[in-house]
Amino acid sequence: MRYAEVSVNSPVAQRQTFSYAIPSGLSVDVGQAVWVPFGKKILQGIVLELSPYPAVEETREIIDVIEPYPVLSPAHVSLARWISEYYLSPLFDAVALMLPPGFERKALTFISTTPNLDARDLSSLSPEQRQTFELVRKQGKIGLKEIEKGLGKKKAQTIISQLVGRGLAVRSYEVEPVKISPKRVLHLRLNVAASQAQEIATKLREKRAIKQATLLDFLAQQSEPVPWAEARQRTGCSKAMAEALSHKGLIALEQIEVKREPISYQGITPSSPLKLTAAQESAFRSTRALIHGTKNPPDVFLLHGVTGSGKTEIYLQALAETVKLGKRGIVLVPEISLTPQTIERFASRFPHKVAILHSKLSPGEQFDEWHRIRNGEADVVIGPRSALFAPQPELGLIVIDEEHEWTYKQQDKSPRYHARDAAIKLAELTGSVVVLGSATPDVETFYHAQRGDYHLLQLPERVVPSEGSPMPQVEVVDLRDELKAGNRSIFSRSLARTVTKTVAGRQQVILFLNRRGGATFIQCRHCGFVLRCKRCAVTLTHHFAENVLICHQCNYKTPVPQICPRCLSRQIKFLGIGTQKLEQEASFTFPQARRLRWDSDMTRRKNSHKEILGKFRTHQADILIGTQMIAKGLDLPLVTLVGVVSADTSLNLPDFRAGERTFQLLTQVAGRAGRGTLGGQVIIQTFTPEHYAIQAAAKHDYASFYDKEIAYRRQLHNPPYTQLALLAYSHTNDSLCQKETERMRDLLIAERDARGIDNLNLIGPAPAFIHRLRGRFRWQLILRGTELSAFLSPIPFPQGWTIDIDPVSLV
Ligand code: ADP
Ligand code: ZN
Ligand code: ZN
Repeated sequence: MRYAEVSVNSPVAQRQTFSYAIPSGLSVDVGQAVWVPFGKKILQGIVLELSPYPAVEETREIIDVIEPYPVLSPAHVSLARWISEYYLSPLFDAVALMLPPGFERKALTFISTTPNLDARDLSSLSPEQRQTFELVRKQGKIGLKEIEKGLGKKKAQTIISQLVGRGLAVRSYEVEPVKISPKRVLHLRLNVAASQAQEIATKLREKRAIKQATLLDFLAQQSEPVPWAEARQRTGCSKAMAEALSHKGLIALEQIEVKREPISYQGITPSSPLKLTAAQESAFRSTRALIHGTKNPPDVFLLHGVTGSGKTEIYLQALAETVKLGKRGIVLVPEISLTPQTIERFASRFPHKVAILHSKLSPGEQFDEWHRIRNGEADVVIGPRSALFAPQPELGLIVIDEEHEWTYKQQDKSPRYHARDAAIKLAELTGSVVVLGSATPDVETFYHAQRGDYHLLQLPERVVPSEGSPMPQVEVVDLRDELKAGNRSIFSRSLARTVTKTVAGRQQVILFLNRRGGATFIQCRHCGFVLRCKRCAVTLTHHFAENVLICHQCNYKTPVPQICPRCLSRQIKFLGIGTQKLEQEASFTFPQARRLRWDSDMTRRKNSHKEILGKFRTHQADILIGTQMIAKGLDLPLVTLVGVVSADTSLNLPDFRAGERTFQLLTQVAGRAGRGTLGGQVIIQTFTPEHYAIQAAAKHDYASFYDKEIAYRRQLHNPPYTQLALLAYSHTNDSLCQKETERMRDLLIAERDARGIDNLNLIGPAPAFIHRLRGRFRWQLILRGTELSAFLSPIPFPQGWTIDIDPVSLV
């Protein structure tokens, strides 16, 4: 007898596997999906390990395999285990990251009668049992659901159990079928020989049926049926003309089954590698050397290059190199719907060899893409963090673009993994190379590069509009001066003047506002002072209900001051406006300009990003107003002015990463200006112009920002000098919620002391920044130390707790 350790799709399974016996005759492999009995249910499981001995004495048998071949590769099995152990997530949650789309389906129960029955067996049946039995016999095999419809759920199950118990019927299980059907597309097929078609085309031309002749000629040059949409685009013919040719029997219109291809190649022309600049060449050479020879631990590159320095070109050439070696790549981007331009660049370099995977594709598209990838048909997979788990065979290179982005961390559901760390683990398991690219690397990533854990590659200069062209000019406007000069508008005099001038010059403007944060902090409009917690150094958050300021890390409370503690001014105020208000103000100040708003309210629909962007790119608007979303990856040559309406909203978030976040945002937005030959200018408005994050962003100076920031991190014992875990508990009752977090704090302290750990401390409990959400209250604890996963692993957390290891945000 052989045994399998199975990760079972049940919430009670947690981080455990369960031992099952493999019945003789059933072939089961690591990574295979199976049906297993679990309590009274039949559940899905994935085999993670095979062994000659069971881990427990009593085992039940695997019922059946779900698909004949393993769905997870051995590397994915190991990665799932690592994710579950490191991020303390249920094992099946980690496994589920790697399952094909639509896989998490239910088992359907079917009933059939036992062959060769004796009439005597039936004599003692009750009328209802007999009736059900006859129904099953007549159908041969029938779904339990169908019997339940007639008898009700409970009764149906009782009767079936009785019939099965007497050996009259048996149950079997099947997967609920995928509700995805193949896609068909209208094609045109030539019905006559190509030479004949050309002769007829000549005749049609003589009769002045020019368009029909063009279409016929076009089809005569093709070796295969052509999709109608393509034929129309290439020849400019109407449907009526195609139908006319079809009427004459020259061509046929037919629906042909096609693979869904979510990337539209219409308008995309193949591109060839660019001649690299000297800086690019040297960076590329280093990566190429290691793509050819991988080692353990994996090689991780940090490609630090200012926006527009040609990082993407290096990704493209490194991928081409990988493909040359018979291997494949995965490229992660922060948010797929925001990066149509990036996708186009990959698609044009690797035509029809790029697959994309993300949740906004239709289930059919996801299904087709996943299988296309598994069959080795995609050289490059592009997608958001989840695309890391694509079944890419022969993986050789993982690229993470804009590696500092927080979207790479799954925060809202389990497993709360970071795609960057998971990628490095996957690279170790598959012998791949990792390239992390950014203009503003995560401070922790840069720290690793400085220490030599990662190879540091730098591209210090822009290549657009020409090599070495200057970064945009940045002006920092002190809003305190505006107030002193009597200007109460949200636009400083400088910004208002420059917007007007830019629009009049038929160029474009982006106005940027970071909405998050809103009016939760208060600031002195006279001197820029913001109240902070003396212990934690983070901004105090205003709580409306009690009208107090609270440190949401350590729960320190203080009343709202009436005068500024620093300059004694009475102008201490709640600040913050939203994009809607901004648009309104813009309409008063710049009535002549055409405005467009871009934020998450406007872009819920599938293609709205593309539409808004398309409108702006074709200059149907002069001013684009938006949140941080517009900071990402846009390449708009007509934009010569970027205005940051308030840098303070992100600067004053109660989080130790607020400075880093602000520097990143400002640098990214500034990078949107002056991508074309017209040059560019950036105006940043703030009440704290002296802040190092703003100063460094204004000078495009990552190094000076990093030096300041890393010194603060060391001084305040924050990552990378320590590890953090965020433990949050949510409950409908606020005081119960507080009590439970206090209980957990005491338990953790006792545990720490019992195990003699001295470098671990607890902050809180405190109400979370978003204290109340959808009727539930949240309290949190912050843990600071090392090897926190190992420390927390044996501790039982009741329902209602979430654990976030290495959180990217404490708000
Ligand atoms: P980044 O990813 O660093 O922001 P990109 O790769 O997008 O930079 O490059 C910016 C622009 O410069 C793109 O339009 C790209 O086509 C162009 N570019 C990049 N490398 C070269 C090169 N070696 N020669 C000419 N143009 C280049
Ligand atoms: Zn003040
Ligand atoms: Zn505090």
